[in-house]
Formats: sequence, C-alpha cells, structure tokens
Amino acid sequence: MGQFILPAPKTPSVAIYNSAARFAVRRIFCVGRNYAEHAREMGHDADREPPFFFSKPADAVIGDGATLPFPMQTENLHHEAELVVAIGVGGVEIPAKSALDHIWGYATGNDLTRRDMQAAAKDMRRPWDMAKGFDHSAPCGALHPVADIGHLMRGRITAHVDGELRQTGDIADMIWPVADVIGHLSHLVTLAAGDLIYTGTPAGVGQIKRGQSCTVAITGLSSVTTTFSRQQ
Ligand code: MN
Repeated sequence: MGQFILPAPKTPSVAIYNSAARFAVRRIFCVGRNYAEHAREMGHDADREPPFFFSKPADAVIGDGATLPFPMQTENLHHEAELVVAIGVGGVEIPAKSALDHIWGYATGNDLTRRDMQAAAKDMRRPWDMAKGFDHSAPCGALHPVADIGHLMRGRITAHVDGELRQTGDIADMIWPVADVIGHLSHLVTLAAGDLIYTGTPAGVGQIKRGQSCTVAITGLSSVTTTFSRQQ
C-alpha cells in the first residue's frame, strides 16, 4: 500500500470513565423520534412506525466540558438529551434478542440540532445533514463499560440550560428499546466496533443561546456539559 499524500486524519475518540484509555469512534448514527412525547411535540403521531436513522460525521464528537464557537448559520440551536450506545462487537442483521451482546458501553450525549435549518429542510424535502451533522454537533460524555455497570434499562434523563431544567424523561420510555434499535440499524448497514448510536430524545427540546451552557445527565452515567461562546 502506498503512503498517504497528506497526513491521515486524526481518529475521533471518546473518553472512558475512570480510565486514561479512549474509545475510537468509527461512525455516529442517530435515531429519529424515539420517545412518544417528543414525536408529538414535533407534530407527529407516536405510533410504532419503524425507527429511522440519520448520521453525523465521526469527527462531530466532542467531549465533556468543551467551550465551542456558536454554530454557524443558525438562530435556533437546540439541545436533544440522548442515551449513547457504543458498539464493541460488530455485526449485520443482528437479532434483537442478542443485540445487547454487541454493546461495549453507554454514555450521555447531546444531539445538537440547527432546528431552523432542519425545519427548512423538512419543508423542502431536503436532507438533514447540515441541520444535524455540523462541527462539534455530537457532545458525548465519558463512556461507562458494560463490564462495570451492566445494561442500562431505565434511568432519568435530563437536559439543563444554564441550570434551568428543560428536558426530563426516562430511558425506559423509548418507543424502540436499544436492542430493537441495534436490530433495525444492523439490517440497514453493517455495524462495527467504534460505532456510536444516539438513541433519541425525550420531550422538551429547546433553544441554547449564545453564551449559554447545556448539561445532559442520565442516572448512573457521567454528564456532558457544553458551553457556547457568544461568537461564531
Ligand atoms: Mn435526536
């Protein structure tokens, strides 16, 4: 194999709780509308239509405590508090009954969204990529290994902006539990070690303004705080 003409890009990665090691990120997948109350607040029925997915670039991931430039081209940046699943063992067409065996760990995440751009994309039947997959759009807290904490089946999930409670729910209320999410997604693409899955957000999504700070927390996991500067 020849040498790369330019230096190879850095491998994006996520911190691991209580460890100096890091989890290398391969791809970032996100589930749309996985909590009934959030589906309703976005103007949709909360029926059990099959889950749908979108992606963010792997290098959109950013750890806890980051101070970021305010995202470009938006006046309506939204937080979405989400449970993040980290895949440790890949596979394709994974049955839901064995899907949990593919998980390496769990983290809190924030599926940052340029909501104004997403609304325009929906109106014009255009893709969501630029509304969802912008720079630093995937804050992710430290990963907690399944080997230490087991599988997370329930737990309070919250988002606070400048200390004010904005979102609250329980991960037990997902329309499609994590095992089903992995089952469906692995029938669309081959999953591999290093994949992150953002599993959807409960009701209460809302705006983060310039200069504000957003914290996502889930019982039993490290929280993730992201601060936005006043400038782009
Ligand atoms: Mn989301």
